Amino acid sequence: MSTAAAAFETMNAPPETQLTARQVDKPRREANKLAKRLRRDAGQAIVDFNMIEEGDRIMVCLSGGKDSFGMLDILLYLREHAPVNFELIAVNLDQKQPGFPADVLPDYLARLGVPFHIENQDTYSIVKRVVPEGKTTCALCSRLRRGILYRVAGELGATKIALGHHRDDILETLFLNMFFGGKLKAMPPKLVTDDGRHIVIRPLAYCREKDLAAWAEERGFPIIPCDLCGSQEQLQRKQVKLMLGEWEKRFPGRIETLFRSLQNVVPSHLADTRLYDFAGLRPTGKPDPDGDRAFDPEEFKDTASMILMERD
Ligand code: SF4
Repeated sequence: MSTAAAAFETMNAPPETQLTARQVDKPRREANKLAKRLRRDAGQAIVDFNMIEEGDRIMVCLSGGKDSFGMLDILLYLREHAPVNFELIAVNLDQKQPGFPADVLPDYLARLGVPFHIENQDTYSIVKRVVPEGKTTCALCSRLRRGILYRVAGELGATKIALGHHRDDILETLFLNMFFGGKLKAMPPKLVTDDGRHIVIRPLAYCREKDLAAWAEERGFPIIPCDLCGSQEQLQRKQVKLMLGEWEKRFPGRIETLFRSLQNVVPSHLADTRLYDFAGLRPTGKPDPDGDRAFDPEEFKDTASMILMERD
């Protein structure tokens, strides 16, 4: 219920059911907390990975989904409050999917007063023509999209390309790579593109998907459905998402712990001989209090509970 609606209801309710001022303000307080948390998480990721520097011109990729709207919204706020000066330019690639509401994003961006560029490229027809019926279209579609966005970034003079992937996307990718790719590899918050010409940043790398979903609702973003191409959402990603969701439900805080593990990598305790010189290991002759007690079982502090306490 909106704050105004709650206030209105209070006026008409019998005295015993009237809401206190504090109860009326609760939705607003929750929204403020959510905004602060999202901005703090994004700000922290930006600082940790030095994502934004003085004079940057950032191309913000806007698909019309909740995450990219949230990213733009947060970056606009940070642009006004950050200690560095940077520019934003929103870019949407209209792939000419049937039913794509072409006016929604230009109208929204014009209303916000954000500089933007809509790139019209009919990749939908190409994909439909080239990929045989019943085969998955996402690989070719993503490749075409990537090439176009790199080109547009060059034409617009963008120094960074911002994508709206969040913490849960990163963890899903980690498990997809482990389960199906045989690799311990997630999705980096910052990277150099495969053509070597651009820097991609993911300012939402620390943000939780459920916060972004709540923020999209709070802000009433004009979300464009993501299934217009008619492609089935990738089944494997869906399964991993479900698995992580169930896990978090049963053991609150575990997702956060998992994410922290990506920031606490111990190559000497994995098994990649390219990362650690196992072959050259020799006794040092000196005791190390933090060293490995090879014969003792590992002791775990409940990191998940500690993280949850920190957050609250
Ligand atoms: S879901 Fe549709 S738009 Fe997205 S990558 Fe796959 S084919 Fe392209």
